[in-house]
Amino acid sequence: MAPFLHREAVDEWARGTETVTRAWQDDFLSYTAEYDRSCSPVESSQVLRTLCRSKLLRYTDMRDDPERFFAAHRLLASRILGGFGIRFTVQFNLFAGSILGLGSDTQVGMLEDMQERGELGCFALTEVGAGVLSGFIVHTTATWDPVRGGFTISTPTVESEKNWISQGLVADWVVVFADLIMDGKALGPHPFLFRMREEATGALIPGVSVTDMGTKTIANDLDNARIRFTDVFAPREALLSRFVDITPGGEYVQLGDEPMRIEVIGQRLLTGRLAISEAAIVAVRQLFIKTKEYADAKQVNGISGKKPLAQLPQLEKLFEDAHAELTALETFTASVEARLSWDLRRGTIPDAALVEAISVCKVRNIEVATDLEHRLEQEVGSYALMAESGFIYKDMLLCCKFAEGDSRILMQKMARDELKRAQKGGMFALVREVVFQGDPMLRDKAMKTFGLARALRSAPSMIVGFEQNWEMVYALADSMCKVHVHQRPKGEDVARVLREHPNLLNYLQQPLLVSRL
Ligand SMILES: Cc1cc2nc3c(=O)[nH]c(=O)nc-3n(C[C@H](O)[C@H](O)[C@H](O)COP(=O)(O)OP(=O)(O)OC[C@H]3O[C@@H](n4cnc5c(N)ncnc54)[C@H](O)[C@@H]3O)c2cc1C
Repeated sequence: MAPFLHREAVDEWARGTETVTRAWQDDFLSYTAEYDRSCSPVESSQVLRTLCRSKLLRYTDMRDDPERFFAAHRLLASRILGGFGIRFTVQFNLFAGSILGLGSDTQVGMLEDMQERGELGCFALTEVGAGVLSGFIVHTTATWDPVRGGFTISTPTVESEKNWISQGLVADWVVVFADLIMDGKALGPHPFLFRMREEATGALIPGVSVTDMGTKTIANDLDNARIRFTDVFAPREALLSRFVDITPGGEYVQLGDEPMRIEVIGQRLLTGRLAISEAAIVAVRQLFIKTKEYADAKQVNGISGKKPLAQLPQLEKLFEDAHAELTALETFTASVEARLSWDLRRGTIPDAALVEAISVCKVRNIEVATDLEHRLEQEVGSYALMAESGFIYKDMLLCCKFAEGDSRILMQKMARDELKRAQKGGMFALVREVVFQGDPMLRDKAMKTFGLARALRSAPSMIVGFEQNWEMVYALADSMCKVHVHQRPKGEDVARVLREHPNLLNYLQQPLLVSRL
């Protein structure tokens, strides 16, 4: 496999954006032009079925045309289609994307038929007892039955039941993650694909029961289900088998170099994590565009007389700050999209540096988006209370915070990795960085790493130390996020890409700089 080359990756991505034409964008958005956010989950799922059947975005585009895949997410975010946006990403990324990334050629081939028929699927990972540690804790079991030549899928305890599963009440198919048990031995979480509803009748298959999670503060056009599996039979072919398989004779075999592990299963969480990060900043951009239009027209009685609300100094400053912060994040996030697209095209697993950069997008974009939204809401008077203003959708940012990797869990991992890197480099090098580093952001990160490393020395273990020094942990991760955004890409890199790909902004930025809220 060719090694990752940053400049080539950015160029490949910039060429890829050429399929995100204005005509395609208009076509794609036309499918949700009449979408009513207060519709029922069934009505909402019908809209998605129609969009799927249109094939404007193919399930295989995540691999063949990743720029389109990400652009589709941004377009829905530009209309603040929260519940539908989650439904869409669950279908295209978590469900179909898992089949694409984890399935055998035959299983990937099934996607074409599913799309043709507009069938929907759900992604059942999170368990009651796992919460934000979904994926790391999996107690649903898939026990190999050599006599029947298949698996018995069960959620033996309340804790192991799947919960919050988007689209779980309407889905025809499920990708469920279960601990594979063979000859009494647990082999860890594996993905299984099967129909959860009979094709002919639409009834749930025996052993599957679904219940509604209840009314949410937002996005009730999306169904979220709790799913229980009671001795559900899934044939041998249900195991998504790109990386591992079970032979007809009942032997577990690894195919290729990658064993089944969280990094393999978690691939879709990475693509989803980036899509959500992009959606958060697009949504807040739209909110600022729309609010600016209002604030330009609305007159207030300033100290020096009547003036537009937008010209009050605190608002002027906020609009300026927001533009600068969002632009920096948009640029950084686009560069991360370019790096991830490289892996998606080649089917390779992202390396640790890219995984960290994706975490940065997730943590930082949602944090900045939430902060900007809140600051704006405080400054525009009664307008913020109006249903039409868009502030009503702010709880979507809450969903973004814990979906596809909770921000706090991601920050803990970032801090742990930074400490490991510092340990490898040696304390002397770290102290030198603290003393001599000229860049204030890099120096701040070095100081926070040094401070945490010292605090942990007196703790009985890293786990206890992390709990005791939690504020230092998050402060280090926060500093790391700022450094990532600060460092890449450089102004001259951006200028080069824009020079060599003059249409880039036409495809990516300008359509989004129109409020669709
Ligand atoms: C609208 C929606 C759609 C979803 N769709 C799907 C889906 O399709 N498929 C799927 O598998 N899952 C889905 N989920 C589940 C989601 O991805 C989360 O895993 C789940 O919501 C976790 O929620 P919880 O309330 O149980 O979190 P909890 O684990 O109870 O966490 C509560 C809070 O505690 C904090 N916390 C918890 N543990 C730690 C720790 N160790 N260190 C520091 N802080 C911690 C977290 O930051 C969080 O804010 C969905 C959730 C929602 C709300």
